[in-house]
Amino acid sequence: MIIMKPLAEYKEEIHSCSKCGICQSVCPIYKITGNDCTVSRGQFIMMKGLLKGDLKMSPRINKYLDLCLKCGACSKFCPSGIDVVDIIVAAKAEYFKNNWFEKFVSFFQKIFVFGFGIKFLGLFSRKIKSKKFDKKVIYFGGCSGKLKGNGAVIKILNSCGIEVISPDFNCCGIPFYVRGDKNTYEGFKENFIKHINKYDIKDIVTTCASCEKTLKGYGIEGLRVRNIFEYIRENELKPILKKKLRVTFHKPCNIDNFEDIKWIFENTENLEYIEMENYDKCCGLNGITKISEYKIMSKIFWAKHCDIKKTRAKFILTSCLGCEAALSLFSFGKYKVMDFAEFMGKFSKLL
Ligand code: SF4
Ligand code: SF4
Repeated sequence: MIIMKPLAEYKEEIHSCSKCGICQSVCPIYKITGNDCTVSRGQFIMMKGLLKGDLKMSPRINKYLDLCLKCGACSKFCPSGIDVVDIIVAAKAEYFKNNWFEKFVSFFQKIFVFGFGIKFLGLFSRKIKSKKFDKKVIYFGGCSGKLKGNGAVIKILNSCGIEVISPDFNCCGIPFYVRGDKNTYEGFKENFIKHINKYDIKDIVTTCASCEKTLKGYGIEGLRVRNIFEYIRENELKPILKKKLRVTFHKPCNIDNFEDIKWIFENTENLEYIEMENYDKCCGLNGITKISEYKIMSKIFWAKHCDIKKTRAKFILTSCLGCEAALSLFSFGKYKVMDFAEFMGKFSKLL
């Protein structure tokens, strides 16, 4: 559950870091910089200094916090079981609350990027009506749903005998959570609750791994948030592509059910799935806006591009709007990056 506690409340977790350095061996940023301040171990040492009062929050510390991709790779291997991302976000929130520039950027994003911008682009996407079935789910489209419409999700879930309700949700709030902007994140959460309270349905489906993780993090009792992969496998839907296509898949950091995805690929006719080297390595999305760090970030984007090229796949599928943006950066028209559901909706013979 995402609580966004003040940094001081993570004191115990911060002190539980044994400085074993295992995080260094998995952190994509440390592998490039070799600087301990850019990985959880070093960040915890800085945070201890902040909590003791030996260090003051500064633009330099913020720069290190910002370099973290929030991929969570270090947490998966941390022997002390520390949830690193939550703590780095708590430290980031300490910087955010006293910095007018961070607040301005967040305000701009809220109003113009995730507000007017997405709504305007959404005018060009098409929303369709679902067929009626006894079993019903609510589709959380978020920004992706606004940009792409709901056609693919309806096609897939109607083929499973499930009716889809598509309220006009806003962003889930994750871009503001990682920035440490608690109020804006809470505002998006409230908007979500306001929408779902209109329905007596507890099943939420999403196609975006980051939205899935955020909605689960709201911690709303009784609500079941699942990715579309789970519905496809559970209902044993076996798609048939209209023609033979070679695809590969980039696993977003927030996806836990990769086995379901593999099952779908194995059971889709006319689909050739090539597993990409490092398919589960972070795409580096969190670095897209770090223009000042372009040397570090472009190494991550380029490495992903090279892994993609080796598969010789024309379609790179994923399940996160942010990953789609990051993976497209070096595509140069050589391959097409698509959301998994969008791909299935477009190329398979469903309903
Ligand atoms: S893996 Fe965990 S315990 Fe080990 S240094 Fe990194 S944060 Fe500390
Ligand atoms: S969350 Fe990812 S980028 Fe951040 S310190 Fe951990 S491994 Fe490195």
